[in-house]
Amino acid sequence: MSPVHDGSTGASLPSVTLADIRRARERIAPIARRTPLVYSAALSERVGTAVHLKLECLQVTGSFKVRGAANRMLQLTAEEKARGVVTVSTGNHGRAVAYVAGRLGIPAVICMSERVPAGKVEAIRALGAEVVLHGEGYDEAERHSFRLQRERGLVRIEGFDDPFVIAGQGTIGLELLEDLPGIDTAIVPLSGGGLISGIALALKSGERLIRVVGVSQDRAPVMVHSLRAGRPIELPEEETLADALAGGIGIENRHTFRMVRELVDETVLVTEEEIAAGIVFALEQDRLVVEGGGAVGIAALLHGHVSGLGRTVAVVVSGGNIASRLLHTLLEGASSGEGRDA
Ligand SMILES: *Cc1c(COP(=O)(O)O)cnc(C)c1O
Repeated sequence: MSPVHDGSTGASLPSVTLADIRRARERIAPIARRTPLVYSAALSERVGTAVHLKLECLQVTGSFKVRGAANRMLQLTAEEKARGVVTVSTGNHGRAVAYVAGRLGIPAVICMSERVPAGKVEAIRALGAEVVLHGEGYDEAERHSFRLQRERGLVRIEGFDDPFVIAGQGTIGLELLEDLPGIDTAIVPLSGGGLISGIALALKSGERLIRVVGVSQDRAPVMVHSLRAGRPIELPEEETLADALAGGIGIENRHTFRMVRELVDETVLVTEEEIAAGIVFALEQDRLVVEGGGAVGIAALLHGHVSGLGRTVAVVVSGGNIASRLLHTLLEGASSGEGRDA
């Protein structure tokens, strides 16, 4: 691991190497699950090529985020572990940090705004973390988390822009290479880019040419617009069914922007209707409960957005944390033919 920069905005040493991902795999094995890869007959038939699903919706805590969080937290010194960790998240990252902290006996503080629904607060509290509610929105909660970090000497656990987190997510790439040696294309949900950076690094380290395609929601896809602009940019956040993909990449992004630019072959966008159709398809055809952010790859395939697939495709189904009520609404909308506005 060499998160060393030369101080300029240009060249820097690689943030993560294949060796880092291999080490991450051994390190996190006691905490994160090796998830199944399943062939989807229904999707293969629709697309006309063999499609396999990497089921991170069956990962502990319901998303892949536990891989990166575990790899990062297992690097802490005994002294850091005793003081504890802090992060800002209402979603999958917060859950993962709380879970790993519980497993390792590390105190964890998860900051959220006072407007976060009680259900999300309870889910994280139930994992044993200390939830601190502060302010009206994400920014205030984040500022408060920096205050607590300073006051209590906590270590901040980043959601994506951290070499250890990226290496942890990259362990999915190693599993894909083992379970699907003939893989031609990997389709991966894309937000901050930790997931796809790690996976792309692992997949591109071998002999075979493997295409890596990122999929984002078309509502405020910050990484995709940043790639077009040639630098990290900010966009106002928008509501989306793929709530795990909402949010920025950090204007001071250090690792993932560059890695995505160098390693990802193509990015595509999906609409809200397409995401809804992906969620419903996963449930009805493959009997899988998938959240919006986890369904964008399926959505992109179903709607013909990805070209040059080759003969063997893997779709990373990144998470399954969807509220039952939302799932119910989407299913009703689909069966009454009204789409997601039902
Ligand atoms: C966090 C998350 C993503 C996006 O991962 P990044 O590393 O931010 O690109 C995709 N799907 C789910 C379910 C997530 O929780």
